[in-house]
Amino acid sequence: MSLKGKDILSAFDFEREDLERLFKLADQLREEMAEKGSLDYAKGKVMLTAFFEPSTRTKLSFQFAMVKLGGTVIDFDVSTSSLLKGESDVDTMKIIDGYDPDVIVIRQKQPYFPHKVKDFVKAPILNAGDGPHEHPTQALLDVYTIWRELGKVDGIKIGIMGDLKYGRTAPSLSYMLTRFNNLTIYYIAPDVIQIRDEVIENIKGKVKFEKVSKPDEVIEELDVLYVTRLQKERFSDPEEYERLKGAYKIDKDFLSKFKHIPIIMHPLPRVWELDPSVDELPQAKYFEQARNGLFARAALVKEVLGV
Ligand code: ASP
Repeated sequence: MSLKGKDILSAFDFEREDLERLFKLADQLREEMAEKGSLDYAKGKVMLTAFFEPSTRTKLSFQFAMVKLGGTVIDFDVSTSSLLKGESDVDTMKIIDGYDPDVIVIRQKQPYFPHKVKDFVKAPILNAGDGPHEHPTQALLDVYTIWRELGKVDGIKIGIMGDLKYGRTAPSLSYMLTRFNNLTIYYIAPDVIQIRDEVIENIKGKVKFEKVSKPDEVIEELDVLYVTRLQKERFSDPEEYERLKGAYKIDKDFLSKFKHIPIIMHPLPRVWELDPSVDELPQAKYFEQARNGLFARAALVKEVLGV
């Protein structure tokens, strides 16, 4: 079954067979793009990107993916739009929809915003992050990276570390990992920023997991250590942010204490939690991970457009 015309709002919108098909397609597009540069699958199709929150990788990789597939991108620029005159974001989406884009990529601060507008927007919607809630296409490139680096996803042990309370990549990654077998997830964080109960409810019985407070407790067992930053913009109490700053940090000296070093991933941007000294280790995979976003998102866009 293809994902043609489907909205992608949650990482649960992907079945295992969808993921395996998309990962192979991503590899195929990677080769075709290396050989030919731009392709023409999406000729005549238009993507609208509407990012109401900051973004570097997600927005650019969707835009590059669409252009390299042969399509056109129109970017909605929040900073010069009528939102500044007081127009609502729902009205804005109605206007955008009236111009008939073929696919819409939305990032919004409000959890469930894409869910709220999907019924009156004709084009398929790809959720590029709805506040702290979910970021399904980040999970797509994360799991694609694991699949490429380790040759499998079944049976792995992964530590997801950092701000699991306000971060949206940890929930989506966890949901996508439930599509595979025999996995263990270790949630590594101080109590105050541990994984949300709602996420635990959604994965219970589908994947093995454990909460731990420090990476030292599990690092030697891990295949993957997935580091995330503190979501400073989502802390209501700046003092709490300051208190937690430095509570967990990975650098080369720390890692070199261990006999086994897992591959290190990070959705980026990194701030202080992942030191640049780690970059020189062969296990550092976060820049490749970001590049993989181009191919994973190209595969998704190609399927959703049905081209
Ligand atoms: N870039 C990711 C996101 O948009 C991770 C982060 O911002 O920390 O969620």
